[in-house]
Amino acid sequence: MSETDRPVIITGNWKMYKTIEESLTFVKELIPLVESATTSVYLAVPFTAIKSVAEQAKGSKIVVGAQNMHDASDGAFTGEIAASMLIDAGARFVILGHSERRILFKESNDVINRKLKRAIKEKLQPVLCIGETLAEREQNLTAQTLSVQLTECLSGIEASQLENLIIAYEPVWAIGTDKSATPAEAQEAHHLCREWLQQAYGENLSRKTVIQYGGSVKPENAKELLEQPDIDGLLVGGASLSADSFSKIVNLT
Ligand code: PEP
Repeated sequence: MSETDRPVIITGNWKMYKTIEESLTFVKELIPLVESATTSVYLAVPFTAIKSVAEQAKGSKIVVGAQNMHDASDGAFTGEIAASMLIDAGARFVILGHSERRILFKESNDVINRKLKRAIKEKLQPVLCIGETLAEREQNLTAQTLSVQLTECLSGIEASQLENLIIAYEPVWAIGTDKSATPAEAQEAHHLCREWLQQAYGENLSRKTVIQYGGSVKPENAKELLEQPDIDGLLVGGASLSADSFSKIVNLT
């Protein structure tokens, strides 16, 4: 727990990497390395590996989740996956609105809002990703971008439905670029998100919501990011693909 009573959650996002066999090798190696960690350890694995990893991770600290889902309960949506299917396979959380989904697959805030509502309805913990592009930052539009993303993605959702919400602030320019936000830049953005939560939903939710930072996090820069008062965890892409580097980040606090 941080000083504010928010848990610290470190999430690995494997993206489109690792077969089932590779996933199991990773998890066998990771379990003993994170056994005495004080943080929560989440792993967002490819759909195909959810069931095997969830079974392998049973009884360990590792919480298994997915990287995307459809907003409908079921239906004729070739190639898509439903929240109920993810839960059935062993997923307990889902990443929604990752910038790769927004940019490469044209997901709008409206689509992400529908997915969030579905995840909440099915009791799958949502990790809502938001973040500005480089052009938006350079034009001083970071605060406005975050506010619009939060307003539209959370539209029509009550505070009581957001008890489990995790927000991941991921500046687009920092993802997979080796160019992390500085701790001060990240803290400023996290503070804006917390202020937005306070205005929209009040003190209680603002104080309780876990806000993770994501964007080129490595064992070398993670500690200073985690020391910022409004940063409650990390969403880690590249550095979560090796049990060694991921466990080093998990064990920093
Ligand atoms: C991510 O996938 O959300 C991410 C932050 O990637 P990376 O850590 O590789 O920048």
